[in-house]
Amino acid sequence: TQSHESFVQFGKKHVTAGLGRVVDAVLTKGEGSYVTLGDGRKMLDFTCGIGVTNLGHCHPKISKAAADQCMKVVHVQCSIAFNQPYLELIERLLPMMPHPSLDSFFFWNSGSEGVEAGIKMARAFTGRQNIINMQGAYHGRTMGAMAVTKSKTIYSAGFHPLMPGAYTLPFPYWHQLGVDPSTPPSELSEMCLSQLNLLLAQASAPKDTAAIIIEPVLGEGGYVPAPPEFLHVGKSKGLTPAIAYLHGLREICDKHGIMLIIDEVQCGFGRTGKNYYTEYSGVRPDILLSAKGLANGFPLSAVISRKELTDKLAAGSMGGTYAGNAVSCAAAVASADAMKEEKILDNVNARSTELFAALNALRTDADAAVARAVLDVRGKGLMVAVEFASPTGTGPYDRFADPAVPAKLASRVAARCVEKGMLILTTSVYEVVRFIPPLNVSKEDLAEGVRIFEEAVREVVK
Ligand code: PMP
Repeated sequence: TQSHESFVQFGKKHVTAGLGRVVDAVLTKGEGSYVTLGDGRKMLDFTCGIGVTNLGHCHPKISKAAADQCMKVVHVQCSIAFNQPYLELIERLLPMMPHPSLDSFFFWNSGSEGVEAGIKMARAFTGRQNIINMQGAYHGRTMGAMAVTKSKTIYSAGFHPLMPGAYTLPFPYWHQLGVDPSTPPSELSEMCLSQLNLLLAQASAPKDTAAIIIEPVLGEGGYVPAPPEFLHVGKSKGLTPAIAYLHGLREICDKHGIMLIIDEVQCGFGRTGKNYYTEYSGVRPDILLSAKGLANGFPLSAVISRKELTDKLAAGSMGGTYAGNAVSCAAAVASADAMKEEKILDNVNARSTELFAALNALRTDADAAVARAVLDVRGKGLMVAVEFASPTGTGPYDRFADPAVPAKLASRVAARCVEKGMLILTTSVYEVVRFIPPLNVSKEDLAEGVRIFEEAVREVVK
């Protein structure tokens, strides 16, 4: 038998250099919030494989549902016949939708493919071409999805030309806008919505604009939720403060017949404490995208719209060999059932409060080096980030440079966490570490993760 180390060396030689890696090891087992590596190390997993194993690794009911489906039928090609778990999954998802108009489903394998399908549908529904996207958003690695991805150039550098017709709009995130972190969210929203009106007047005319695609919580762009603040006072009367920015987008889309595509691939399916983040607003997406946690590790994405629109699609115009795989769908049905039976959203909200309290405490830490290093704590539910200061700043007009702060805090803190037994990821071009624990993480495991993180921060800022 080969040693773990020799397998790692083999992988380094034969697996493409185009992949990055948090840890040079083989991950041999996953159980709940923990993973085991080939060298015997057991680690807390606060990455969930980038927000996928949301109910923990190898959730017994989900694994069993997939195994049972494997013994019935694995592959039911979606252009040949219906598959039973596919239809059962629609039954489960219908009551979870953030808006009752969402009643027409199409399943793909990955988030990127879902984005491609969403773009194609918006073009077909409107007969228009252009797609407006948000600065800082991530939508995937295929040519269309990459064209609307604006979180880091590493995803597209050297791969141009991408899909034409993509126009970028500022997102209400203080750091990207070069304003102070304490700027009221309503001001950020105003700025960005007026930029949208300008874009429609200056660059992409409404008659050429098929859709606006938005990640309502920037994921790879830094874990930034669309602002939870009032915008159009008067108009927002009677609405909760959480809705304003998304409502502003909806209003502009309605005015011009533009489709609103909401990408909840990372923030959806329970991650933010509601089934979908959009639910906090009550806003109607024309197309909603879900993936990642949906099948807890099996490849599956959902492209959801309304029948009135999807009836315009010609039979045969959509499809894909493995799209809506029966085993993935069976796993997703079991995930949806487990979310309900295990009251997962209650756990998300309880653990979220604890996580925010612990991380916010660092901002007023007795150790001045720790307190000044923590620039921002943000997120929603169990999609939470800490943004650190930087000695040189990271943005083009960066007013947040602080020479007293050590360089590259985010990647150094994350690496130190890994050394201490916790997998954790950074995000965005800024100094941001993100927490993506399982949605059913226990109070104790969450506290252990926070303890490791705090210890790492204290050591790294010294
Ligand atoms: N949209 C969002 C918001 C994502 O976070 C991701 C993946 N990080 C994608 C789309 C692309 O999904 P996939 O990697 O499954 O293609």
